[in-house]
Amino acid sequence: MNNRIPKLWLRNGRETPVLAGHPWIFSKGIETGPVNEDGKPAREVGLVKVYSGGKNFLGIGMYNPNTSIALRMISLNKDDENGFKVDSDFFVRKFKSLENAKKEFLAAHSARHGALASPAETTSYRLVNADADWLPGLIIDRYENVFVFQIHTAAMDKYRELIVEALRDAFDPEAIVERSDIESRKSDGMESLPVNIHYGKVDGPVKFSENGVKFLADVLKGQKTGFFLDQREARKKVGDISHGKRVLNLFSYTGGFGLYAALNGAKKVTTVDSSESALELAQENFRLNGIKIDDKKNFEKYDFVCADVFDFLSDIKIGDYDIIVCDPPAFAKSNDKIDEAKKAYTSINRRCMDLLSPGGILVTCSCSGRITQEDFREILKFTAGRSKKDMRILCSLTQPFDHTERVSFSEGRYLKTFVLQCLDNF
Ligand code: SAH
Repeated sequence: MNNRIPKLWLRNGRETPVLAGHPWIFSKGIETGPVNEDGKPAREVGLVKVYSGGKNFLGIGMYNPNTSIALRMISLNKDDENGFKVDSDFFVRKFKSLENAKKEFLAAHSARHGALASPAETTSYRLVNADADWLPGLIIDRYENVFVFQIHTAAMDKYRELIVEALRDAFDPEAIVERSDIESRKSDGMESLPVNIHYGKVDGPVKFSENGVKFLADVLKGQKTGFFLDQREARKKVGDISHGKRVLNLFSYTGGFGLYAALNGAKKVTTVDSSESALELAQENFRLNGIKIDDKKNFEKYDFVCADVFDFLSDIKIGDYDIIVCDPPAFAKSNDKIDEAKKAYTSINRRCMDLLSPGGILVTCSCSGRITQEDFREILKFTAGRSKKDMRILCSLTQPFDHTERVSFSEGRYLKTFVLQCLDNF
């Protein structure tokens, strides 16, 4: 066990959120340290023992003096004061316990949703959701037996080899891919990295199931880790309400929402994205599920349009679609983009609401963590007013349980989805 972990002390009162389970401490919250055993300053990126101003041991943090979130807690276990080590066993234990905790709900979730699904039929989930799962800066998505990870922080970046070794030990995977080709690493003082297959072989898109629907994820070149696993429940919801409806799937990526609609008897599904490669995979996903998109008689029914959503929307008429799904990319990628992002959400939602007839449904999403649920609702309230539509909320969703959200860590919520129905025009 390594007891040579430097120590630091928080300012008085700054321990309260930590004790309640909040994983972040900003640099301003640190009173003294970190210091080594000999009392000399320890300024390097790495593990630290964290104490309150009253000198009580709080847990172990991952420290980076070069960022505003200087500390991210990795453990609140009191025993760790006497010895704490991040080795391959540590990661194996973590991965196994997260797998157990999440698979239980994945099975329950699938079973509940009946018709299309059985527990075995959701084979993809987020195994590790970074700070919310007490593994700061680490994301791991699982597609059947292919594991795709991303490292966002400099402190976690030191453990790449251990992470790969632990995934091999814990799961006997088919492949392990790293997708740390992410610009956000810069805010932690690191470069974006090339895509890397650390273990096994990936010959092409990886097959997996979600609620019984088959999908391909391009884990090497696709967006994020290859698929937006966080919209699993919203896609299911869209499937549930799509029978006999004309469905427009905007910002479709690889077609998920529209595919659920098609499988549930939608009368028409139009899939729109600006990425040619995403649309190619969308068509593959439809074919994979036995939907005959290549039959001449279905050309009108299943339409794949490579276009800018804003241009596309200029060409359609009010009432052309019964359900519009609008799941744009994160508009607010940094704090200085929040106002711009609010304008973009207002503009796109206004366009969508304007196109609804009474009875029409808008499934609208925001995946920007910096836009809160309340902000998003305000935007929708304003937009509905401008569009002169009486909209009711059929339901609202957030990220599913495998994209862990903790009560004590509200910053961890990023995905907001509202299913809205237009009751009338004012
Ligand atoms: N709904 C998808 C995820 C959407 S991700 C799912 O369930 O998997 C956002 C998508 O928006 C990306 O595929 C990106 O290519 C696309 N996109 C971004 N800006 C766009 C624009 N202006 N017009 C059309 N598509 C756009």
